[in-house]
Amino acid sequence: MLRSLFLAAAGSARLERLVESAPVSRGIVQRFVAGRSADEVLRVSRDLADDGMTVSLDHLGGDTRTVEQAVATRDEYLAVLGRLRDLALTPAVEVSVKLSALGQSIDEKLAYEHARAVCAAAAEAGTTVTLDAEDHSTTDATLETLAGLRKDFPSTGAALQAHLRRTEGDCRELATAGSRVRLCKGAYSEPESVAFPSALDVDKSFVRCLNILMSGEGYPMVATHDPRLIAIAEDRARWFDRSSGEYEFQLLYGVRPEEQARLAASGHTVRVYLPYGEQWYGYLMRRLAERPANVGVLARAVTSKK
Ligand SMILES: Cc1cc2nc3c(=O)[nH]c(=O)nc-3n(C[C@H](O)[C@H](O)[C@H](O)COP(=O)(O)OP(=O)(O)OC[C@H]3O[C@@H](n4cnc5c(N)ncnc54)[C@H](O)[C@@H]3O)c2cc1C
Repeated sequence: MLRSLFLAAAGSARLERLVESAPVSRGIVQRFVAGRSADEVLRVSRDLADDGMTVSLDHLGGDTRTVEQAVATRDEYLAVLGRLRDLALTPAVEVSVKLSALGQSIDEKLAYEHARAVCAAAAEAGTTVTLDAEDHSTTDATLETLAGLRKDFPSTGAALQAHLRRTEGDCRELATAGSRVRLCKGAYSEPESVAFPSALDVDKSFVRCLNILMSGEGYPMVATHDPRLIAIAEDRARWFDRSSGEYEFQLLYGVRPEEQARLAASGHTVRVYLPYGEQWYGYLMRRLAERPANVGVLARAVTSKK
């Protein structure tokens, strides 16, 4: 119910203007989004790297409907990768890309070519690319793209979503040497035919997938804020004798920052997923939707005078 309220709010241009202009809610935006421009995200990346974190930059794009938008997204990534190299922020900072933003729904081949260009720029800059996971109808195409990209850019990674019934099998396929796999719960609303409907079943699937990845030969990237799953991942890393450079934790910018610091201080590699760009509003509403307590936070923020 609350979740659908926030998701509906994601489509409201009026609320977007209010959130952006109210002084307190501007602070909420800044908590979850690094900024609108490359300059801002590079500044935040530097601060995070100075604090011992690694980073994955995500350029927030809308649903790319035209070739021009897809080309602009590719060019944004090429430019930011060049600047990361010049600022010596690689390899600590990598990039995450959504194939949809590179044109997947217009033409899969076009998105593939754009992703290749981004991977080539990342390799040139000395860093890596991870493909975000989107809704289940794109999973096969994304994994095919991944296989193609990894032939020339073997460090290219991909996200898998524990809420999908197929994901245990995908983890088995991808738990091979050099393969970087980000395991997350999954952010998209999916039908029961393809996804586990209950949170408990998603968590159980997450643990089964974690066991496969941690006992396999690849590089697991554990993307969750869930305290129980983080504790299980720490346990599995010890059990499978993985040292800190042989897996990593990933958390979203602004979510449980004290846990990010704790994990880093305990010697784990921690990567902060850092979104930026003009299309920050939909992303913010999705983050707020994940936590019922955020309804009050946002309501107070947009009505506050200070
Ligand atoms: C680095 C990273 C990359 C991701 N990439 C993808 C992707 O490619 N595709 C995809 O579908 N999904 C992706 N996700 C989102 C993911 O699928 C989940 O929707 C999201 O992480 C919430 O699940 P959770 O594991 O944190 O567990 P939850 O059960 O949602 O949360 C566990 C606890 O974490 C805290 N918490 C969680 N969210 C918030 C919040 N917004 N504000 C404050 N506290 C919070 C709360 O204490 C909560 O009880 C990614 C997540 C991360 C961390």
